[in-house]
Amino acid sequence: MSKPYNILFASSEVEPFAKTGGLADVCSTLPKAIKELGHEIRIMMPRYRFISERKFRLHDIIRLKEIPIPVNTAEKTANVKSSFITNLKDKIQVYFLDNESYFGREGLYQNPKAKEDYKDNDERFIFFCRGVLETLKRLGWQPDIIHCNDWQTGLIPAYLKTLYKDDPFFKDVKTVFTIHNMAYQGAFPAESFHKSGLPQETFTPDGVEAYGKFNFLKTALYYSDVITTVSEKYAEEICASEELGSGLSGLLAHRKKDLYGILNGIDYTVWDPASDQHIYRKYDSKSLEAKADNKRALVAKFNLAYNESTPVIGAISRLVDQKGFELVLDMLDEMMKLDVQLVLLGSGDKNLEKKFETAQKKFGDRMGVVFGLDEELAHLIEAGSDMFLMPSKYEPCGLNQMYSMRYGTVPIVRATGGLDDTVEDISTNGKGTGFKFVKYDSKELLKAVQRAVKTFQQQPEDWKKLMRNGMMKDFSWEHSAKKYVNLYKELLRH
Ligand code: ADP
Repeated sequence: MSKPYNILFASSEVEPFAKTGGLADVCSTLPKAIKELGHEIRIMMPRYRFISERKFRLHDIIRLKEIPIPVNTAEKTANVKSSFITNLKDKIQVYFLDNESYFGREGLYQNPKAKEDYKDNDERFIFFCRGVLETLKRLGWQPDIIHCNDWQTGLIPAYLKTLYKDDPFFKDVKTVFTIHNMAYQGAFPAESFHKSGLPQETFTPDGVEAYGKFNFLKTALYYSDVITTVSEKYAEEICASEELGSGLSGLLAHRKKDLYGILNGIDYTVWDPASDQHIYRKYDSKSLEAKADNKRALVAKFNLAYNESTPVIGAISRLVDQKGFELVLDMLDEMMKLDVQLVLLGSGDKNLEKKFETAQKKFGDRMGVVFGLDEELAHLIEAGSDMFLMPSKYEPCGLNQMYSMRYGTVPIVRATGGLDDTVEDISTNGKGTGFKFVKYDSKELLKAVQRAVKTFQQQPEDWKKLMRNGMMKDFSWEHSAKKYVNLYKELLRH
């Protein structure tokens, strides 16, 4: 093994403490995999109020109390609490930066009821970014790498290259920044900039500014030593397409030699039908008949009738524009003419929720919807469905299609980003794992569903092969974790 590195992972979401999407899964499982490769890795995240002190045995760290953090013209204080996550052999230390006025709230970024972003998200994450560096100094634990994730951590590389550049503690520290989604940028009005304490001259297009705003993601893309994103295809797409690059494709193309696509893995200790505690009956590729019992349990949960030959199409998703559910609504009438059942677990956009609620009333005996976040139900949907729908407009990596394949649930996906990198269409010479469509168009989605239903109902042997091919795929983290470590190695060599 190469020399062990000290790596600090900074993220605003980490499973099982706080999650709105795949970011949380990655920021829990990737550190575990890196630790398993023999490196020392620790995590820092905000301490949101809902992270239960009791459940997670959070405790104070006496010497990390009342750390002064300059934000705007005031001095705020961070109190650091500690807990850990575990993998098979090790514990991974997690530090929580606590400040009641910033993080003592019910949501991560939004008021959960009104679904409106908190007005002071700029200050909250200025506090977090600066807090990470100040905490490290007090802790006296010197990382070789600070691995930042998404806009909420985007100022860290800029602080290191400006305010902290002559600080001997950070002299040799390198930064890696991972883009989990280009569309969320943390772009604030120019007036926010002075709250950061960054030098005035950095507020230019060759610095933290993008289109007149103080943009946290852009800041990271400009200042971090290396940029990664979560699939190779998405890495190409965000450089090549102004739309997918969300206005920053020029800068990304400029930094292309420092940009790497590394596919996310999945956590097989959590997502494996052979050991899944949440599902009705465990199974693997040799006991596929047990999957039918999960299908029974699933349809019963949604008050639908069980029919072996009627495929259940599952979907679990944030209901936001990115995920392509407008296409589903567009073709729903046509799709429901087929002999199928649809179950959807989602939360997000109120308008989309309303439209699906109306559709559910129309197709009630063959369609079930649950709005909200429900981890346990998500597992049952993966286990009990025959097919899984992900018609995303864009998808940096996507996790559910990989979970689906592991569960023998055949994905129907749009060929974009990580969906394109992980799913092979049935037409690919016996190696297929699912059904893909290319154009973002409801008719194309409908055709893909029709192909899937036809194969399911008329070619059972081909269907079984699709299921088995998917179940045999290896999407474990080990492979990707090695790629990250190689990247660290390259970076530290220079
Ligand atoms: P994104 O991060 O864009 O939301 P990913 O596919 O990368 O998409 O990750 C989504 C993660 O969130 C998966 O683990 C998925 O199971 C989970 N998830 C999404 N919506 C829900 C929900 N309503 N209930 C439970 N889990 C959900």
